[in-house]
Amino acid sequence: MSLKMKNNSKIHILGGGPAGVATSYYASQKKINSVIYEASSAIGGNCKTIKLDDFYFDLGAHRFHDKNENVTNEIKKILGNQLLKVHSPSKIFYKNNYLDFPLRIFNVLTTLKMNIGLKIVYENFLNQLKTFKSPNTFEEVAYQNYGKTLSKLFLMNYTEKLWGESSNKLLPSIAGGRLKNLNLKSIIAELFFNQKSGSKHLDGEFWYPKFGFGTIFESMKNSPYQEFFLNSSVTRLIHDGKKITKIEINQSKVINVNQIVSTLPINLLIKFLYPVVDEKLLMIANSLKFRGLKLCVLMLDRPYFSDNASIYFPDKKIPFTRIYEPKNRSKFTAPNDKTCIVAEVPYKPEKSNINNQELLDQIVSILEQKKMLKKSEVLTTKVYDLPFAYPILDLEVKEKLNILFKFLSRFKNLHLIGRNANFEYQHTHDIFKNSNYLIEKISKN
Ligand SMILES: Cc1cc2nc3c(=O)[nH]c(=O)nc-3n(C[C@H](O)[C@H](O)[C@H](O)COP(=O)(O)OP(=O)(O)OC[C@H]3O[C@@H](n4cnc5c(N)ncnc54)[C@H](O)[C@@H]3O)c2cc1C
Repeated sequence: MSLKMKNNSKIHILGGGPAGVATSYYASQKKINSVIYEASSAIGGNCKTIKLDDFYFDLGAHRFHDKNENVTNEIKKILGNQLLKVHSPSKIFYKNNYLDFPLRIFNVLTTLKMNIGLKIVYENFLNQLKTFKSPNTFEEVAYQNYGKTLSKLFLMNYTEKLWGESSNKLLPSIAGGRLKNLNLKSIIAELFFNQKSGSKHLDGEFWYPKFGFGTIFESMKNSPYQEFFLNSSVTRLIHDGKKITKIEINQSKVINVNQIVSTLPINLLIKFLYPVVDEKLLMIANSLKFRGLKLCVLMLDRPYFSDNASIYFPDKKIPFTRIYEPKNRSKFTAPNDKTCIVAEVPYKPEKSNINNQELLDQIVSILEQKKMLKKSEVLTTKVYDLPFAYPILDLEVKEKLNILFKFLSRFKNLHLIGRNANFEYQHTHDIFKNSNYLIEKISKN
């Protein structure tokens, strides 16, 4: 898909989440005009920060990963002293114990029964002597990194709860770089010297904006080269077989386009093409699934809930996978004497009949039973829906995407960018890098 920039022409960007905003930001740096069409009433997509009374919280536990120096420097430049360096580790809640996240062998051994602990050590030592083939599934990655026993205790339950799929049907990339290998050196260091090892990011050091993750994107939309149309749902992409010629907004307004960047979920993009694509392509697009997430927010009448950035819950009997507390990322996100927590509950958007109030009651009752809070401390509750939280990367996805991307490559003025458009497990630093690269390419034409 090549993209040629005519003088004074605009880039039309579909979707105002991180990918859309970052593309428009980098375009503005090159004095290229862009216009964003966003379906909802605010920009930020799944990275929005919501302000409710005196509380700020993100749509899911977000943090800025310091993985790409150029991108991190750009974020520092944009946010200045609004960007905080945070040190707030996370924990795993297992049978009423808190274990370090990521798992540390010493910590695991002091929590589990002796025979299970010995089995874990044995399996991990054996792993060091084995040569593994490149893993094809998440299950294989987990076994190679942690051995079977440890994987089954913590990783499989969690993964299957989060993705709604068996871990031997999911691609290794769903690990998102979070599986720290328990190599021989780290096992010895931890077993005999109780030393921590690993990356700063995994051990709880990260960047976070003072008033929530969403401020990153709010701070990137201040240029005269950028235009934003909110409540503007893209409903059709009209094409001539070689180019996208027009887009339709809210089933009424039709706009001529020259260059077009889509951040929409790829299945929606295929469905919106007009003339419609053939049945086989539609079937493939429909078969791509997303995992939804209910974000259950509880405002609490106490200064803190815990001292962790996030707490992970692998137990399948508990409906939520993770609880995060914004105040442990930035103290400015709640009043001094109050806090707020967000419980993440994965669900299937295509089969959802969850009653939000029942879900909230269940969460409060579980937390009360675990002695994590008292019902009387709950001030207000709210539930938010993310129907496109995670693209489900099962083993058939690669083949399906090859067919769809090959088909879309005929539209010479169309570029796809972002997590759900590329159907990849991307983070915002990846998206920034890709957006910058795309704009560099355009500006050279
Ligand atoms: C729980 C959770 C935790 C995460 N944690 C982190 C983290 O710690 N760090 C990190 O870097 N990343 C994290 N991510 C990933 C991050 O949220 C995504 O990478 C990012 O949101 C992807 O941005 P995007 O613009 O591609 O898509 P989205 O955020 O999905 O934005 C797409 C936008 O398109 C709009 N749209 C959809 N359909 C239409 C239409 N028809 N017309 C117009 N507009 C439309 C949507 O309203 C939305 O605003 C996390 C994600 C989740 C779910």
